[in-house]
Amino acid sequence: MPKLLDGKAVRDRILTELRPRLDRIRESGGRPPGLAVVLVGADPASEIYVRNKVKTCQELGIFSEKLTPPATSTTEEILAIVAGLAARPEIDGILVQSPLPHPIDERRILLSLPPGKDVDGFHPYNVGQLVANNPAPRACTPAGVMELLRRNEINPSGKKAVVIGRSDIVGKPMAMLLLHAHATVTICHSRTSNLEAECRQADILVAAIGRPGFVRRNFVKPGAVVVDVGINRLATREAAAAVFAGNAEKLAEFDKKGSLIVGDAHPLELEHAAAVTPVPGGVGPLTIAMLLANTVALAEQHLGL
Ligand code: NAD
Repeated sequence: MPKLLDGKAVRDRILTELRPRLDRIRESGGRPPGLAVVLVGADPASEIYVRNKVKTCQELGIFSEKLTPPATSTTEEILAIVAGLAARPEIDGILVQSPLPHPIDERRILLSLPPGKDVDGFHPYNVGQLVANNPAPRACTPAGVMELLRRNEINPSGKKAVVIGRSDIVGKPMAMLLLHAHATVTICHSRTSNLEAECRQADILVAAIGRPGFVRRNFVKPGAVVVDVGINRLATREAAAAVFAGNAEKLAEFDKKGSLIVGDAHPLELEHAAAVTPVPGGVGPLTIAMLLANTVALAEQHLGL
């Protein structure tokens, strides 16, 4: 059986390590780090995620503020909110939760963020810093994956890493971080030919696709490490049966709960892998931890510590 890479344990360690840094900020007489989250419209999944972010901030003594403009907001109105936050010295990080409701121009909003407060690392300036391997806020989910690998003593150096997915928030920054860690990196996507064969080359396979159970047995080389970034809710019995056909136990679990969360890797077909991240409980918990780590780092920078 593969080793399970426990994201919650790594998250807890990251948060524990932030505490002395927060103490130092407090002792220096400085204000606490400040994070502003802008959630446009009431998307239930985003709301849960944002609530968790705010709660974790409170537990650590990070000031956080949630702004919830309505889904009918215009691009100009969101730009004005971001400009207001950008001007406030007690706000170190600004996060505009995506996806933004149509027709808000997400690109203009992103470009209006001051790169020094771009806690998600999505501004093109910070993307450039990532490519150049200069210090700057890094995209939280891929940065969390790197922490998970490092703290489980999985060193990408010299390994063949394959990333499935080329999104700006996961796939691309993930590939770049693995490259900086000296892996030989292949990025696969929806137009890749021979996807299965490409993936089977991987010593480290990262799946960030958004398709439940997509990575099947034949995608994975024996002894590979599989990092599953996907979070997919199976909300109908048909969807559950498509992933768990013939598995009475899992289907009974669906019947009891009414839905199941699965990753992009098939949860029952990776027994030949050396290590896998569970879903839930693998990569997911690290995203918030890295967001807070980025907020603390920006505060240290802004306070000159
Ligand atoms: P996205 O939709 O922006 O990108 C998906 C990528 O997968 C695309 O680049 C596309 O080319 C690729 N893809 C789609 N179908 C494919 C196919 N058939 N074959 C090969 N490649 C294919 O998604 P995203 O924002 O990058 O998120 C990916 C997954 O990760 C989602 O399930 C999302 O919920 C999850 N996610 C998790 C976290 C976390 O904290 N764990 C954070 C962000 C995203």
